Amino acid sequence: MTHDSALDRSTIWPYEDGELGAVYYSRNDHPTGVAAEQAIGELEGGRALLFSSGMAATTTAVLTLASPGKTLAFAAGGYYGTGKLFEAFGRWGLRIVEFDQTGSPPADADLVWIEGPSNPFLTFPDLEAAAAHPAPVIMDATASTPVLLRPLDHGIDVVMHSATKYLAGHHDALLGVLACREEATHEALHRTRTQTGPIAGPDAAWLLLRSLKTLELRVLRQSETALELARRLAGHPKVETVRYPGLEPDPLAAKYLRRGFGGLLSFDVADEQAARRVESSTELIGNATSLGGVDTTIEGRFRWEGERVPPGLLRLSVGLEDEGVLWADLEQALEAV
Ligand code: PLP
Repeated sequence: MTHDSALDRSTIWPYEDGELGAVYYSRNDHPTGVAAEQAIGELEGGRALLFSSGMAATTTAVLTLASPGKTLAFAAGGYYGTGKLFEAFGRWGLRIVEFDQTGSPPADADLVWIEGPSNPFLTFPDLEAAAAHPAPVIMDATASTPVLLRPLDHGIDVVMHSATKYLAGHHDALLGVLACREEATHEALHRTRTQTGPIAGPDAAWLLLRSLKTLELRVLRQSETALELARRLAGHPKVETVRYPGLEPDPLAAKYLRRGFGGLLSFDVADEQAARRVESSTELIGNATSLGGVDTTIEGRFRWEGERVPPGLLRLSVGLEDEGVLWADLEQALEAV
């Protein structure tokens, strides 16, 4: 994999002596996507597939591995959008149950969905307990990245990423990933992707290839800065709770994450108005949704998630800026409360 991997925008490639070649129609596969899939596959220790967004990857996983009448166990406090999508699958006859992912998934689950660290509660799943469950287990490892965790090494069947976040890392590409080891699972996921059409386009795949070159450096630096900011926030009089797996290390996160705890954290101020004042008072830190980019972003999650989160919860995605400068910005923004 190199940055120089050619960007090929074709949608068709000629048959070879009347036979299908490795690529023939881009809804199935295209060279830039295949190059990015090989790179991610190496990082995850499995075979990867690229999607047009994280949600497209999640949809494909559920369409492939679940069916009407089955029970999907979803980690309580997992990404809000994932929960909403699963709720929508209820109309198609899927039963959704929530469970505490720090313990074992419910015995009657036909498919298990875990997330670590979860967004925005920062809980971490018990991977051993999940892997021991007979049903296929999918882990949304968006906030860990393969730099800190390779879920397939722990017996997880499928790893999912919103590659829009850390993998692409620059807030300029919308992408999803599924990776697995079982050939039959890979084939089935690939078949669904071809049938339903949510493959990533070549431009986004090319941006991902570019970004993977700096993934390790970015994630390690973001982890270091996030830990320091979490510590400082925990000592600030206006801050009520800080959630970061590296703060009084979460035993499950400490057991499974290598080399750091990631760049995502959340903290609470008094109420929704206070959160609104803090997020609109930062100067360097962007007040925007999403996470995992080189630029730090902050967002009150109540606007999206309502009662599911404390009204004063702010999610902070730590980027690559200088730690002292970031702290100075947070400190001055907290004065607005
Ligand atoms: N999973 C997690 C943990 C996320 O944070 C997000 C997006 O915020 C998604 C999945 C969905 O990914 P995308 O926005 O790329 O569809």
